[in-house]
Amino acid sequence: MPKSLSNRTLNIAASLTVAIDSLAKKMIAEGKDVVSLGAGEPDFPTPEPICKAAHCAIDSGKTRYTAPVGILELRKKICEKLSKENGLRYEPEQITVTSGAKHAVFNSLAALINPGDEVIIPAPYWVTYPELVKWLGGVPVFVDGLQENDFKITAEQLKQVCNDKTKAILMNNPCNPTGSVYSREELEALAKVIVENDLYCISDEVYEYFVYKGTFTSIASIEGMKDRSIVINGFSKSYCMTGWRVGYDASPAPIAKIIGKIQGQATHHPSNIAQYAAIGALEMGNAESLKMRDVFRKRRDFMVSKIGEALGQKLRAPEGAFYLFAPVNSVYGRTTPEGKTIKGSVDLCEYILESQGLAIVPGAAFGNDNCVRFSYAASDENLESACRRFEAAIRSLK
Ligand code: GLU
Repeated sequence: MPKSLSNRTLNIAASLTVAIDSLAKKMIAEGKDVVSLGAGEPDFPTPEPICKAAHCAIDSGKTRYTAPVGILELRKKICEKLSKENGLRYEPEQITVTSGAKHAVFNSLAALINPGDEVIIPAPYWVTYPELVKWLGGVPVFVDGLQENDFKITAEQLKQVCNDKTKAILMNNPCNPTGSVYSREELEALAKVIVENDLYCISDEVYEYFVYKGTFTSIASIEGMKDRSIVINGFSKSYCMTGWRVGYDASPAPIAKIIGKIQGQATHHPSNIAQYAAIGALEMGNAESLKMRDVFRKRRDFMVSKIGEALGQKLRAPEGAFYLFAPVNSVYGRTTPEGKTIKGSVDLCEYILESQGLAIVPGAAFGNDNCVRFSYAASDENLESACRRFEAAIRSLK
């Protein structure tokens, strides 16, 4: 009998967004007629200047180890970006370049958590957050963003869950899966509670360029917050670089030092070539990303209208990111033509994939079983087909 495996690891769930994306890609590779709105992955190619920067890095022999925290030139450029766009002044020593933003979330939590520490996670949340907290021995504490408040949490709700064990809050603004965007005023109210309770704040801002109404504010830019915040961002979504795996943490110096140590032991550093590609991205600026945002806005409007029609209800238009988190609980209790009762979001997504070849993600994975998530970072053609398939699936339920 082999010895048992790590309990900590056995106790965490696999990422459902990643699992659904992999399953859909496998089915497509097998020749099945599947449309995937599973993973949030822009359908546009990586812009040419970024690819050129990577080619150039290979041609000039940038194929060896870099510093664990990433190459200095990239960290300087990240500082410039944070200063210019977010009003946040950092030194390059405070930046750690990571293998995607997910890795930056892991680093941040690993730097902060002791066993039993509570980490507040506004729900609905991205699938990865609670699992990483648990894996590191922390305790996720969920605060439900109510649908009538556009799925956002309030300062009052936050105050109620803070106690001696609360170590940090993990914010995601704009939010995956809901697309909610916190206004400056809302962030100021939350920041007041965060400061009063002496919490750290991890702020995942990967969707910052995809805001359709109002402007984006980093919570770290609010008075009293920068020295207790770890700002996370990445290139996957904003520069169509999902497969390149580049993200970063910007943190107070003592935390950055610890993150550098973790990274030096765990991964050494992200790919040297991909880091040069990221420099190419920052040199481009964000004009291309903002053009992409305008395309996403049209796709969002299309999805809100078509999915709303299929469900026979008016849906809210998400203010940011590229996801539609639609309430589908009105069909729970109905049965499929094969006689299976749809009991929740997992049953519904399974049925839609099996019967119509449409991959979407159950809200249960994000802490809200009443909804399902559609990623509209997909081609117009796929979105049109997805809406037809969704409508047909809903219509077939008795
Ligand atoms: N962040 C994307 C999503 O939520 C990509 C998959 C993942 O890493 O979760 O779909």
